[in-house]
Amino acid sequence: MGKITLQKVVKTFGNVQVIPPLDLTIEDGEFTVFVGPSGCGKSTLLRLIAGLEDVTSGTILIDGQDATAVPPAKRGLAMVFQSYALYPHMSVRKNIAFPLRMAKLPKEEQDRRVEQAASVLNLTDYLDRRPGQLSGGQRQRVAIGRAIVREPSAFLFDEPLSNLDAALRVGMRLEISELHKRLATTMIYVTHDQVEAMTMADKIVVLQAGNIEQVGSPLELYREPRNVFVAGFIGSPK
Ligand code: ADP
Ligand code: MG
Repeated sequence: MGKITLQKVVKTFGNVQVIPPLDLTIEDGEFTVFVGPSGCGKSTLLRLIAGLEDVTSGTILIDGQDATAVPPAKRGLAMVFQSYALYPHMSVRKNIAFPLRMAKLPKEEQDRRVEQAASVLNLTDYLDRRPGQLSGGQRQRVAIGRAIVREPSAFLFDEPLSNLDAALRVGMRLEISELHKRLATTMIYVTHDQVEAMTMADKIVVLQAGNIEQVGSPLELYREPRNVFVAGFIGSPK
């Protein structure tokens, strides 16, 4: 569970083609980072995979099934945004359980999943607090908790750390990598930060103006950048 395939995916807004025909395969369990400058189409690509935007043409397969016409809630994916959009009047417990309440899961199952997510994210002692009583890093963990309880086949992160200060970012980077090891679930992580890409990824997809410039492991990109753009972006002297 969690293999995602894009076949000739195109996205246009009005008459502007933001994503030209694009092919990409993300293997089950892989930590894939989409990296590229602001405006290159990273969020659009993630939103297409999540189903928050419709493809103009082309196909998105999730575990071999055509997902193009499947609504976001039925794709089995969970998205984590940079603005965590927690409900300020609800406890951490209720925030994390929110998608499960919407899905009308039995109360015991909701509790079980919330406790489990809280334990993984070190939030057990904070379940009865409100978001306003948490640090930025803890709030981001609550947002991740809300994704975990859905038990998705893949997590989609859109610059989840960009609102945090530098020191906290380093810690959260490690935590997300740990989480990936622990859950062994597909994760797609969007960032414009080369360091995040190089330290977190199994596979990096370098984007420029909607085009894939190169796909490879951090080491491959560092050692053999395909062109000056990739070299400059990854920061190796070529
Ligand atoms: P990134 O996440 O890499 O910064 P985006 O995917 O947000 O880039 O945007 C890629 C391009 O698509 C940008 O030129 C942006 O202005 C344009 N774009 C994104 N969403 C819309 C939209 N809903 N309507 C029109 N243009 C959009
Ligand atoms: Mg973006």
